Amino acid sequence: MNDAERPTLAAASGQYAGGDSGSGTVSGNRGLAIEEPLIFEQGSPEKTAVDLPPIPAHLSRLGGLAPRQSIGLPGLSEPEVVRHYLRLSQQNYGIDTGFFPLGSCTMKHNPRLNEKLARLPGLGDVHPLQPVATVQGALAVIFHCAAWLKALTGMPAVAMSPAAGAHGEMVGLMAIRAALEARGDARRRVIVPESAHGTNPASAVACGYAVEAVAADARGRVDPATLAERLGPDVAAVMLTNPNTCGLFETHIREIAAATHAAGAFFYCDGANFNAIVGRVRPADLGIDAMHINLHKTFSTPHGGGGPGSGPVVLSAALSPYAPVSIVIETPAGYRLIERADAEANASIGRIKGFHGQFGMFVRALAYMMSMGGDGLRQVASDAVLNANYILASLKETLTPAFEGPCMHEALFDDRCLAGTGVTTLDLAKALIDEGFHPMTVYFPLVVHGAMLVEPTETESKATLDQFIRVMRELVQRAHRSGAAPFHAAPRLAPRRRLDETTAARHPVLRWRPAANERSTKQPQSTR
Ligand SMILES: *Cc1c(COP(=O)(O)O)cnc(C)c1O
Repeated sequence: MNDAERPTLAAASGQYAGGDSGSGTVSGNRGLAIEEPLIFEQGSPEKTAVDLPPIPAHLSRLGGLAPRQSIGLPGLSEPEVVRHYLRLSQQNYGIDTGFFPLGSCTMKHNPRLNEKLARLPGLGDVHPLQPVATVQGALAVIFHCAAWLKALTGMPAVAMSPAAGAHGEMVGLMAIRAALEARGDARRRVIVPESAHGTNPASAVACGYAVEAVAADARGRVDPATLAERLGPDVAAVMLTNPNTCGLFETHIREIAAATHAAGAFFYCDGANFNAIVGRVRPADLGIDAMHINLHKTFSTPHGGGGPGSGPVVLSAALSPYAPVSIVIETPAGYRLIERADAEANASIGRIKGFHGQFGMFVRALAYMMSMGGDGLRQVASDAVLNANYILASLKETLTPAFEGPCMHEALFDDRCLAGTGVTTLDLAKALIDEGFHPMTVYFPLVVHGAMLVEPTETESKATLDQFIRVMRELVQRAHRSGAAPFHAAPRLAPRRRLDETTAARHPVLRWRPAANERSTKQPQSTR
């Protein structure tokens, strides 16, 4: 192997960016970005950060169960430990670091006001097992958060406890199944559009249903006539996403709801994209029976590594008796919790989550809704749709839009724009990392070849969008001008180069093991 080949090979095998092969520095560091080995590689079992007095002579009560060899935990000093974890945290790209246009995920700013309120001692330090009389304020938060969600959707009931969107889908389908079983009508099939998020068919299967996919028309929407052919006495529910995962409003949604109801089925809506229509459309007016809401998308609570999700599901009057417990109700004597699936809640599907749901997220979501107000939320939807259309319009000559016409909150492109360059959607995404942008969602939805789904959200400035647009234009021009080689080498500037994702998925290395020679020198031998 000659030196010129080395970076490419290192990239292909997912080696460190540091060291001779990448950074060209003696240390392997890049400026003040310090190469970070595993904590096991830094410390050693012989080293200790504290000086403890020798153990005085004592009688062991371990009955022969005392450890016979070191278990090999690394020893490091306090400053070494602090630096290790701080450096790791600095390698974490998040919504507070920069633009995060991950389509379908609605990665928007998490206002600091929400965080401040969630840390108030009366909200942050309460325990779910406290007597109800001592947590009336916390119950009021759940009650009012529920009231806002019901008002914004026009729906009569909401189950607050689901822990994420997928969990909300499952609860919605469990309520639908319970309602069907209560009328002695065990149906078997759930119809899901081909473009749906993978959690939709997964939730239906988890609830015991067979999933039937329905294709979209040339406009990227579900055609009511195509759907009607699939409906029948065996269909329990239709699950539709609106706006859908192609970033398009399902223009025939009311006809689809009517046809679904006429066939005796329930109409589930995946509300993950509610950000695009909040304050402008009430799902109840579209004929929806159940819809989950991702508080960590539309209502700005932290997402992914930043915090737990929360997926309340709104329910129609027909489904509300089956809502899971616990349920907060308001009485003249204060707030009360219905905690059991008996008496008042005898039709409930039961408990689906410990205690009452992700309480900290309810505080943040309520803080967000109250600080925005109804008019502010309406503006959120308008600005999110405006930003996405600005990206679509600015890039429609550079990239190839998957469908004609304007979009809702996210712009979907396919990979025809890269034809003949040897550059793939994945290569383009990796090149964006070098440019300081978290890549857009790629290869989703599956119905579009080489999909690139860009969701800017309303919280990004025009300057940020312009910078992203400029970079995207330049990268695509470069692909046509200079071909694929520089793209295949990307990312060059990230802490890690191109990883072998297939091997990582097939053979994940989840445990650190000392190298064989180190084992014999560092670890005390046990077998003698
Ligand atoms: C995010 C998302 C989901 C799943 O929500 P989670 O909170 O991640 O479980 C479902 N459908 C769509 C369209 C989504 O974008």
